[in-house]
Amino acid sequence: MLHDPPAGVTAWLHPATRDEAFSLVADGGTPVAGGVALLSLALAPALGERAVDVAALLPVGIFDGLIGASTTLAELAADSYANAHWPAIAEAAAMTATPQVRAVATVGGTVAARLPTSDLAASLAAHDCVVHAQTAEGEREIEILDYLSRKTLPAHLVSGVRPRLSGPGAHRRFALRLGPAPALATVAGIAVNGELRLFAGAVGPTAAPIRLEGELKLDSLRSDARASAEYRRQLIGVLAADVRRVLGQRG
Ligand SMILES: Cc1cc2nc3c(=O)[nH]c(=O)nc-3n(C[C@H](O)[C@H](O)[C@H](O)COP(=O)(O)OP(=O)(O)OC[C@H]3O[C@@H](n4cnc5c(N)ncnc54)[C@H](O)[C@@H]3O)c2cc1C
Repeated sequence: MLHDPPAGVTAWLHPATRDEAFSLVADGGTPVAGGVALLSLALAPALGERAVDVAALLPVGIFDGLIGASTTLAELAADSYANAHWPAIAEAAAMTATPQVRAVATVGGTVAARLPTSDLAASLAAHDCVVHAQTAEGEREIEILDYLSRKTLPAHLVSGVRPRLSGPGAHRRFALRLGPAPALATVAGIAVNGELRLFAGAVGPTAAPIRLEGELKLDSLRSDARASAEYRRQLIGVLAADVRRVLGQRG
């Protein structure tokens, strides 16, 4: 017999199907995938009354060019197809957090968390990704920059991420210390058809990375307790130069 949890206690729900999971999320439940956000007070989502375990219901691995939402960052970093076709994404996954976090954090949860310090974001933009999501209107594809920059999103379940560009690529990050420290800036880039697509992550007002072309405007960059906008601009220049150097070598 099921009992309602006492007031203030979160009920953990384990739906049997994706549709059931989506209904629970559409009804106000909070999706939980790897659950890494729960480790940190700074990241913990407000679980509310109902947490919906979605990890087992979403695709794992890479099929038909789609990175399944329940693929862990460790699996993505080690995947031979990802390393060959989407090297900036594979590198960014390998440089995120710690081995323990990468072993449980999923691609879906990492994208859906929309953290302004995300390591993965710039590489997803460089490889021109679309986010696949189940919504009240059915399956939708949302451009990664649109997904990461919107103030709010309607109830949805990320089912995967599909990169549309492949090619030699690289990801670089800088943080104030080694180990699990949020990046002050990241730069990811790929070489495609003789051109470079470079994006800076962890530097803007939202999780959306900024395309590096032409002069980088200071007022597009974040100033906070960890770094000023000007410092971030300098960092981006250094990281971008290294990505260009690596792509010169790899391309
Ligand atoms: C110690 C520590 C160090 C970290 N270091 C880094 C770092 O260096 N770089 C970096 O980029 N990040 C870092 N993070 C953040 C971490 O990468 C993310 O919290 C993690 O990747 C989230 O993945 P998850 O599968 O555990 O998601 P969860 O924690 O389960 O969920 C994260 C958010 O996404 C929502 N969600 C989950 N799955 C779905 C889905 N399929 N559809 C819709 N919404 C969903 C949840 O409701 C929640 O709001 C760190 C976190 C910790 C605790």
